[in-house]
Amino acid sequence: MQTSNKPDVRDWFPSEDGNNQKREEMMKLIEQLITGVDELKNPDGVNLKGDKKRDGNFYGELTKESYIPQVGAAMEEVNTELLKLLHGHPYHTKYFFSNILPMASMPGMMGMLTAMLVNGNNLWDVYGPAGAEAEVRVTAMMSKLVGYDAEQSGGYTTWGGQGAVFSGLRIAIAKHDPQAPQHGVPGNLYVFCSEAAHYSLFKSVEATGIGSNHLVKVKTLSDSSMDTEDLERKMNQVIASGGIPVYIVATTGTTDAIGIDDVSLIRQVAQKVTEQAGLACPHIHADSALGGFFAVFNDYNLSKNELGFSAGVLDMVAKLQVKMRHLHLADSMCFDFQKLGQTPYVSSLFLVKNANDFGLLELGEDETPYVGHRGYGDYHTGYTLECTRMASSISMYSALLAFGIEGYQRLFAQFLEVSYEFRKQLVAKIPEVDIVNPDNYAISTVFRIYPPQAPRFQDEVKGTCSIRDIEQTNLLNERLFEKLGEQRDQMFFGDTKKHLIVNTLEDQSIPLYVSKFFVISPHTKPELVTEVVDYLKACITEVYEQFVSTVK
Ligand SMILES: *Cc1c(COP(=O)(O)O)cnc(C)c1O
Repeated sequence: MQTSNKPDVRDWFPSEDGNNQKREEMMKLIEQLITGVDELKNPDGVNLKGDKKRDGNFYGELTKESYIPQVGAAMEEVNTELLKLLHGHPYHTKYFFSNILPMASMPGMMGMLTAMLVNGNNLWDVYGPAGAEAEVRVTAMMSKLVGYDAEQSGGYTTWGGQGAVFSGLRIAIAKHDPQAPQHGVPGNLYVFCSEAAHYSLFKSVEATGIGSNHLVKVKTLSDSSMDTEDLERKMNQVIASGGIPVYIVATTGTTDAIGIDDVSLIRQVAQKVTEQAGLACPHIHADSALGGFFAVFNDYNLSKNELGFSAGVLDMVAKLQVKMRHLHLADSMCFDFQKLGQTPYVSSLFLVKNANDFGLLELGEDETPYVGHRGYGDYHTGYTLECTRMASSISMYSALLAFGIEGYQRLFAQFLEVSYEFRKQLVAKIPEVDIVNPDNYAISTVFRIYPPQAPRFQDEVKGTCSIRDIEQTNLLNERLFEKLGEQRDQMFFGDTKKHLIVNTLEDQSIPLYVSKFFVISPHTKPELVTEVVDYLKACITEVYEQFVSTVK
């Protein structure tokens, strides 16, 4: 075998001894990437520069032409290829309003880099002590933020808000029947969430074998929060027919409209209903994947207003406080750091009020028990669904240290200020528009346009409209989606075909189609709003005129 003219295999790796030459090589590669991205940036649009035609048989062609090279390329050349992947990529400029898809912050990225530099496995502190330490710290920090007793609580980083909903359900099943992990899931278990909840629970009941027929969807109020009277009714129905409610997901920040379920009311109802039936209270998971971070405002003194928030922002913060202060009444919750925590994917924290709950999921008696809330001794996370875990906790730790409570408050206050300004100008300038989450003062504004003389949002939520009327309005809104979607390289809005399911004159349920303005980029400032609303007005006028001339 002739290897003498081949590079040393160590060339692909960081040095063993920390020598300058290797560090400079690495810094150059990193600089190449960062400079490369900077050169692609375009603050006047949404996407990075560069051509990328994704039409036709784009993915098919990729499949055809891709194979592993026999001989590897130099790392600079590989970087050049990597940068090509980014051509035309959506980027979080000031015009990015699509959804909760944040920019990764610098502290977040530095944390990820730190984790990569040692590549520890967060499964066990013997392999990944840095990740374990950061995980215990972050768990304690977030516990104290929401009002959990950090001596009792526990947590681990996992695969998204979805992973947290799933983990909560595993606990819920094991709490009801500690033998279930051995014997399988009993056939009479039921879970509850609102109609506005994320589909995470749907997938979880499927994956645990409970089956989605045992997922009960509770009606929402007009602010997209759970109707707890309907919860009570539906829990009673389940119990009357021999079912057992084991899990309630309270969405504390819905993905589109930011409706916030009242965890306190949900707990009261759940306790009352199950007590009457002689059952244990179900496990309540606050799906705070999106909204959990609003808890940074919980202790903000509105009258002192030390950060000088505007009256509009203060009003929003006051409303958020009222709901988020109940978060600690949930048995478990989630913080998607990859959403409002400003860290890169995947970084979500699953937090439980009582770390003993993890004991129900431990692998075996001889395993080290749930020591998630302590910084000493063995730390072996045998209760997670994953085996190997990335140390995303280091990125979370980095972001929490860099932003601090005040940094998050200032960032979110800017998002809120933009939202406030947007709402004000939108209704003032475009009479065809109704804001359909008027009571959820947060970073997302969901809006809907109406044909001339069509019944408006107020009537739609009352249930006094015909299917035909709502379908016509949905159609008009779909046209707007298409228009905004075609031009999403200018401004990138979101949309959904499933905002608020309303009743009709014919007594049928029907969802409303709506567009979404989600403030998520730190580069979007309140001054931009005039331009945004004028742009929307032009798009809406165009769609509207076409619609009126073609539809009767
Ligand atoms: C985003 C979101 C989820 C899913 O979280 P992932 O991190 O994408 O897995 C679940 N619930 C809510 C309310 C969300 O907003």
